[in-house]
Amino acid sequence: MSQISAPHTQPVPWTSIARWLLAVPVLLLLAYLVTFDQGAISQAGDYLHELMHDGRHLLGVPCH
Ligand SMILES: [Zn+2]
Repeated sequence: MSQISAPHTQPVPWTSIARWLLAVPVLLLLAYLVTFDQGAISQAGDYLHELMHDGRHLLGVPCH
């Protein structure tokens, strides 16, 4: 008869957690700037909108 053993688990290193805690807000901010920002956060006016315009349409983000 064989015994079923629990899988050996290792603790997640804090550096990995810290990396994700930093990366997620940065990626969310980048996604916001690319998709919905109209100059309110970036203070770039229409420049960022025009720069990302085709990509926004490709992603299906409504803009006009
Ligand atoms: Zn458009």
